[in-house]
Amino acid sequence: MRYAILADIHSNLNAFKAVIDDLNSRGGFQKIWCLGDVVGYGPEPHECIQLLNEYDNLCVAGNHDWACIGKLSNIIFNPVAAEACAWTEKQLNDWEINYLAALPEMITEGDFTLVHGSPRNPLTEYLFSDIDAEQNLAYFDTPYCLIGHSHVPMIFEKNNTVIFTRLIEGVPVQLGNNRLIINPGGVGQPRDNDPRAAYAVYDRDLGIIEHFRVEYDIKATQGKMRRAGLPETLVTRLDYGR
Ligand code: ZN
Repeated sequence: MRYAILADIHSNLNAFKAVIDDLNSRGGFQKIWCLGDVVGYGPEPHECIQLLNEYDNLCVAGNHDWACIGKLSNIIFNPVAAEACAWTEKQLNDWEINYLAALPEMITEGDFTLVHGSPRNPLTEYLFSDIDAEQNLAYFDTPYCLIGHSHVPMIFEKNNTVIFTRLIEGVPVQLGNNRLIINPGGVGQPRDNDPRAAYAVYDRDLGIIEHFRVEYDIKATQGKMRRAGLPETLVTRLDYGR
């Protein structure tokens, strides 16, 4: 059984489709674990929600998913994020609004807990430091936790202390006794200075998680964003992956 671990699709259908194609070229997958922020920032919220639901999937709520429908305040958003959020809200139909509203904050399946930000604060906490990661171990019961939100691929491993490392493309993480918090990176808006879409695969039979990057048609997404009138800074940041 292979799970596609996808975070922060952010209405970027070109990136999302490129990830699906890449997954299929690497042996496919049976289920998507989606770590929230399906929408926000990008030009195709409707199509991304549709595509996700063509597959067997579990999906948690992200801060953008709920801010775009008014379920979470966007007061902490910067002005361009808030502008994209307001644009997104106008695109969504009733079914999509209800779908996003019903997404849970946390899901547990097998050995994994799925959240968007962190187990302690699923919608809004950014996990960057080993200290915060260590504190968060008390907020989930499974051996492993999958997060998104920062759009940066990384792994926190609890041994005696919590050690932070970057997830490296094509280098499998062998699951063992140590508890782990893993971020697969962002599909639709990478922020680690690499503009390629980021994702991970959990192969349950092999007991490994592997991180992959894939090029997508950034210009196509940018053209759609400009035609939609989305903020130019959101358009250009896709070139740089930050
Ligand atoms: Zn996000």
